[in-house]
Amino acid sequence: VPLVVAIDGPSGSGKSSTSRGVAARLGLRYLDTGAMYRGMTWWMLENGVDVSDPSAVAARAREARIESGTDPLAPTITVDGVDVAEAIRGEAVTGAVSPVSAVPEVRAVLLDLQRSIIAADGGIVVEGRDIGSVVAPDAPVKVYLTADPEARALRRAAEEGGSDVAATQQSLLARDKIDSGRTVSPLTMAEGAVHLDTTPYSLDEVIGLVVDLVEA
Ligand code: C5P
Repeated sequence: VPLVVAIDGPSGSGKSSTSRGVAARLGLRYLDTGAMYRGMTWWMLENGVDVSDPSAVAARAREARIESGTDPLAPTITVDGVDVAEAIRGEAVTGAVSPVSAVPEVRAVLLDLQRSIIAADGGIVVEGRDIGSVVAPDAPVKVYLTADPEARALRRAAEEGGSDVAATQQSLLARDKIDSGRTVSPLTMAEGAVHLDTTPYSLDEVIGLVVDLVEA
C-alpha cells in the first residue's frame, strides 16, 4: 500500500510549505486540495456563476476540468487547460472560496478527483481541511497543524507578496468562521491525528518533526 500523509489545518498554519517540504525530503508526490477548491471557485467566477447561490454552483460543479500536478518542487494547477496558479491566490477567489467549498456537489466532485490522484502510483502528501477525516481516513500518518492567528496572518501576508497583515488576519479568521460553521466542518481534527502547533518552530523544524512521524 503506497504511503499517504494527511496534513490538515487552517490557512497560514504552514500546511503548504510543510507538506511540500516533507514530500520533497521523502520523495513523495504532493497534492494541495485547497488549490483544487480555489480552482473550482475560479471556474465559477470565470463562467459568471452566482457564487452566493448554492444551487447555481451545484448545477455546474461537474463542468470544471481541474488538473493538479503532484511534483512537490513544481506544483501546478490548471482549470479547463488554463494555468490558474496565480489567479487562484487573488482576492476574488479568496473571497468566494468558502461558500463554493460549502456546496456538497463541489465536495463530491473534488473528493472523487482527490481519491483518484491519491490512488495513482507512489506515496503522497495531501494537504487540506478534511484529508484525515474524509478524503483519506485510513492514512497511516495524520497531522493537524495550527498556529497563532498573528503567526498565520504574518505568513499568509508574506506569501501574498506583502499584503496588509491586519487585513489578512481578518480575512483568515472570517474564512475559519465560515469553514467551521458548516454542517460537516472540515476544520475539525481527524481521529488519530497528531496536533502540532507550529507557532514556535521554523519551517525546517516543522518539516523535521513531520518526517520523524512518518519514519517512526
Ligand atoms: O488552504 P487554502 O486556504 O488554500 O484553502 C482555501 C479554502 O478551500 C478553505 O478556506 C476552505 O474553504 C476550502 N477547502 C476545503 N477543504 C479542503 C481544502 C480547502 O473546504 N480539503
